[in-house]
Amino acid sequence: MKNRHLLQHYKLKATPQRIAIIKLMEYSGHISIDDLFKEIREKFTSISLATLYKNIHTMISVSLIREVKIPGQKAKYEIEKVPHAHILCKTCGELKDISFDPITLVEDTVKSSDYRVDEVSIMISGICPNCK
Ligand SMILES: [Zn+2]
Ligand SMILES: [Zn+2]
Repeated sequence: MKNRHLLQHYKLKATPQRIAIIKLMEYSGHISIDDLFKEIREKFTSISLATLYKNIHTMISVSLIREVKIPGQKAKYEIEKVPHAHILCKTCGELKDISFDPITLVEDTVKSSDYRVDEVSIMISGICPNCK
């Protein structure tokens, strides 16, 4: 889906800033707010961090993008996709997707708790092949 259509699909106004944010997320896979701000500023020199946060939160609220919480670090953001787990290199900080649906792991436990589960997140950490 084209970025503009993606925004319209979620009933959001396709502003140039939002399109640029999605493009950067697509390109980097996972991006922190600081990196996003640095990149976005090159194109939209007057954008403030507060505006960027506002845009991010709007897109999170409609589940267009998702916040990936990383222990001991600032969160990163990614475009919402099929459920998956994350693996993080403790040395270089590389964050990668792993195709694995975390919900399958806890399905029985969840069933017996009678909760409606919205999210299960799994963060695996280790040393990547490059840093080994
Ligand atoms: Zn590494
Ligand atoms: Zn991811």
